[in-house]
Amino acid sequence: LEPAYSFMIRTRTPGGVVSPQQWLQLDRIATTYAERGLRITTRQAFQFHGIIKRELKATMQAINAAMIDTVAACGDVNRNIMAAANPHESAAHVFIHAQAAALSAHLRPNTRAYYEIWLDEERVAGSGDEDEPIYGDRYLPRKFKIGFAIPPHNDVDVFAQDLGFIAIVEDGAVTGYNVTAGGGMGATHGDPETYPRLGSLLGAIAPDQVTVIAEAVITTQRDWGNRAVRKRARLKYTIDDRGLDAFKQEVEQRSGVVFAPPREFRFVHNGDRFGWMQGENGLWHLTLRIIAGRIQDREQPHLTGLREIAAHLHDIAHDQSAAPEFRMTPNQNLVIANIPEDDRTRIDALVAAHGLALYETASPLRRNAIACVALPTCGLAMAEAERYLPDFLTRFETLLAAHGLAGQAINLRISGCPNGCSRPYLGEIALVGKAPGRYNLMLGADHRGERLNTLYRENIDEAAILAALDPLLARYAVEREHDEYFGDFLVRAGIVAAKALHLELVA
Ligand code: SF4
Repeated sequence: LEPAYSFMIRTRTPGGVVSPQQWLQLDRIATTYAERGLRITTRQAFQFHGIIKRELKATMQAINAAMIDTVAACGDVNRNIMAAANPHESAAHVFIHAQAAALSAHLRPNTRAYYEIWLDEERVAGSGDEDEPIYGDRYLPRKFKIGFAIPPHNDVDVFAQDLGFIAIVEDGAVTGYNVTAGGGMGATHGDPETYPRLGSLLGAIAPDQVTVIAEAVITTQRDWGNRAVRKRARLKYTIDDRGLDAFKQEVEQRSGVVFAPPREFRFVHNGDRFGWMQGENGLWHLTLRIIAGRIQDREQPHLTGLREIAAHLHDIAHDQSAAPEFRMTPNQNLVIANIPEDDRTRIDALVAAHGLALYETASPLRRNAIACVALPTCGLAMAEAERYLPDFLTRFETLLAAHGLAGQAINLRISGCPNGCSRPYLGEIALVGKAPGRYNLMLGADHRGERLNTLYRENIDEAAILAALDPLLARYAVEREHDEYFGDFLVRAGIVAAKALHLELVA
């Protein structure tokens, strides 16, 4: 008898957009095949957990029937491309989402193996039809991540991406991008050869140069990346080993594009904006808080509620000029987008009836915290993250309240290991798993995704974490300047060192 293997499946959903019809199909897959409902990842994809081996193929076929696939959602290729879930600037969002989807299709590996294995397509491997002009015969040395941001919101954490596109928006239209390269979160405990790094700014390009620049960056990494030492194989190490100037010149030479000087931009935060917002096109968008991205019927019937909302949106879709859709945010939340004024009351009623209005009642801390999945699902996890987040939030909220800071927004992130799937090194406070119940406490990132945090205490348990934070919060409550965030205070007060902004401009 074979062991009862179970698997995780992750979708490729560029920019995290799905239609109401697709939501209903994904819901059906979750309730038929998966454990613990749907989960929104920090890369705007869905994960299905606990798919048992004998149902893998049926699950993949059901996902494909929803016009979604899982190609390149894992592996040493370009992963799910992220795009700002911006609920306000409608035209810019439509534009960058279309670019993200087109780039995702362009960078998808050409291999038909996925279709042959899961969709019973006739086998053609070896027939010569599987040319991979971008990936070659060995693919990339390591995974590769791309994100599109629309300032002033950095919800995609663009500096955490291998390749970032920061939209230049003029009169509501995207007229170009500032390009960043070399971001990445992953590290190994106790190994100074590995580290999180923020992307470096290369310069500005026109919108129609996105594909050729992406190809040039990826093929440079394909050819220059470290294939001998896997933990040093990400683009960030290639750039540090070869030098940013040399890398930029190579990209320019391969692409035929000379970067223009970077254009000015300003980010104000890297979180989400909750509640209803009206877009430029007059339609409304509702951002819901989903703790750790987990959607299931537990204390509250969240999965059922979103199913009913999806069914309602599906019913009204044919009347709309811009179709209602769901947008997963990079912070694991959910936008119900393109809603006409008349339908807001109905949506509000469904949200309230199913306990989905957490965005109205949760503290700013609870609204913004993110956690990777970690135990029991992730084989790399050293400590809890998703399952621990609610309890830690409750205890930390009590501590904040004791210092009169209950309404203070603090960017908190928990990861079960140093791989950093919750982008912990960009948290003002981060817990990075070291062992069961023990974490490295990282402090001092900013609210804009432009400064990394630093190690403050190593391998400590919850009591020690709260004890370490207690005096810092006491000082913050008394000494902070007007509107000063906790991470900025820690750096200004000299409690932690500032990590460079990595926004160096290349001449
Ligand atoms: Fe990622 Fe590590 Fe969390 Fe697993 S435990 S999801 S590898 S950060």
